[in-house]
Amino acid sequence: MRQGMSRRELLAAGLALPFSGIAYAQLTCGELTLAQTEGPFFKPKSPERHILVDSGKEKILLTGVVLSRNCKPVAKALLDFWHADDMGEYDNDGFRCRGHQFADAEGRFRLETIVPAQYPGRARHIHVKVQAPGRRVLTTQIYFPNDPGNTRDPLYRADLTLRRNGSEGRFDFVIDA
Ligand code: FE
Repeated sequence: MRQGMSRRELLAAGLALPFSGIAYAQLTCGELTLAQTEGPFFKPKSPERHILVDSGKEKILLTGVVLSRNCKPVAKALLDFWHADDMGEYDNDGFRCRGHQFADAEGRFRLETIVPAQYPGRARHIHVKVQAPGRRVLTTQIYFPNDPGNTRDPLYRADLTLRRNGSEGRFDFVIDA
């Protein structure tokens, strides 16, 4: 590949796929990702899939890596995601907007879904449990940048905000591994 290709060119060439076009640079590790409450709507036994919703108002491709505290990728880390739909509702009967997946050998994951709506009292967020094989589970929530709900939600943390570039988002986890 020639030097200085733009992200758009890389994407066009398919070289930045299947993972995000957002560069895998400036990985931050050392400190564990902040844990947050699970909330009332977790359901175990979600289906294994990386596409949660393929239609909806606003799609987002969330990618990232799972790292240990010493910045090593956590191969086969379990990531279990669940979030409200574009009406702010959780599917408590079935598994819409719910799914788990395992990171690849480089600790990478990709989640295709929709941007959840806000619901009363909460900023837009995606719930997730992340676990290295045989280690303890990190339960947390991921937020969206510039969401007006962020300033009103006491749970919101800047550290837990994904980086967004249009329909792509990036978030890296640092877990006990
Ligand atoms: Fe929630």
